[in-house]
Amino acid sequence: MTVQQILHTVQLSKEELSKLLSATGDDEKVLFNYAANVKQQHVGNTVYLRGLIEFSNICEKNCYYCGIRRDNTDTHRYCLTEDEALEAVRFAHENGFGSIALQSGELSSDAFTRKIDFILKEAMRITNGEIGITLSCGEQTEDVYRRWFESGASRYLLRIESSTPELYAKLHPNDELHSFTNRVNALERLKKCGYQVGTGVMIGLPFQTAEHLANDLLFMKQLDIDMCGMGPYIEHARTPLYEHKLQLLSLRERFKLSLKMVALLRILMPDINIAATTALQTIEKNGREQAIQIGANVLMPNITPKRYRDDYFLYENKPVSQQSDEDDLKFLEKQLKNIGHEIGFFKQGNSLHYSAKNER
Ligand code: SAM
Ligand code: SF4
Repeated sequence: MTVQQILHTVQLSKEELSKLLSATGDDEKVLFNYAANVKQQHVGNTVYLRGLIEFSNICEKNCYYCGIRRDNTDTHRYCLTEDEALEAVRFAHENGFGSIALQSGELSSDAFTRKIDFILKEAMRITNGEIGITLSCGEQTEDVYRRWFESGASRYLLRIESSTPELYAKLHPNDELHSFTNRVNALERLKKCGYQVGTGVMIGLPFQTAEHLANDLLFMKQLDIDMCGMGPYIEHARTPLYEHKLQLLSLRERFKLSLKMVALLRILMPDINIAATTALQTIEKNGREQAIQIGANVLMPNITPKRYRDDYFLYENKPVSQQSDEDDLKFLEKQLKNIGHEIGFFKQGNSLHYSAKNER
């Protein structure tokens, strides 16, 4: 079967997805065009913004790939004050971001739960309930998820990282804190609490095959997610996974593979929100725009107070803009206009998939 014929198949199988993930040249173009059309038909050409606030790099966990893992003593640890976080929320609201995303290392302390809770309530109060809030603060108990939901968070992003338990085990220490089953259960808890639920994976990991990635796409479909954030794995010298550096695909290959993952997910799940992630921009300057062209519809510009940005150092060469956030936004708007897209200013940009599910 040609790529065109495969794409017209109603239900794509693991084998077909694996084949499409290795498409190159004209086949790759056919795939990207097809995904761009699906996107246009289902979510249009509006791009929604989530002002990304990297709230804290303090983490109890020790994931083998992550630069802010607990055992990396080379990291200067920080946590924004309530005022600093709310200042960023105010900036987002005034500049028409419509939504923010609060992301942090994982902490299970009461103090952390209460601090996030306070920020959520205040963010709702100072924006008259107009700001949409996504959280990405790792695995928490059902009580905590529920409390944060009731205080104003409506979306939660928790990447499964890899949906293949054997590969997941190679990326994490072998203990309760890093259990694959616990992570899947956390995703189920989020659904139960009523969140728009997002997950995602890293692409181009050591030991990862096209079949693993095809499984990831089917996992997301089966979990019936509302949103996705996925992007290339980028190594960090102060992490255990770095020793497999020589096994990795080139950055360019990881980038291309990530675009194909975005395109295929758009085809499989036409009305979900898909973010064009920062890691794409790390590899290619206009990487996020390329992802927007072939399937993504959400961007997460960094609005963390500038003095903390270097410390949220997940992987090498993570971009830190030298311009003001206002200038970055103007530049982004221009870049998107050049590719026929517009920013959904002052709109929350909730997942259409979630709304459709809840109207049924
Ligand atoms: N601690 C929370 C969690 O892990 O769910 C949220 C913050 S964590 C830094 C956000 C994401 O960063 C992770 O889900 C992971 O996929 C990504 N990440 C960490 N290290 C990375 C790396 N070396 N390359 C690419 N992405 C990475
Ligand atoms: Fe912590 Fe998240 Fe990094 Fe894992 S990926 S070490 S949970 S910040």
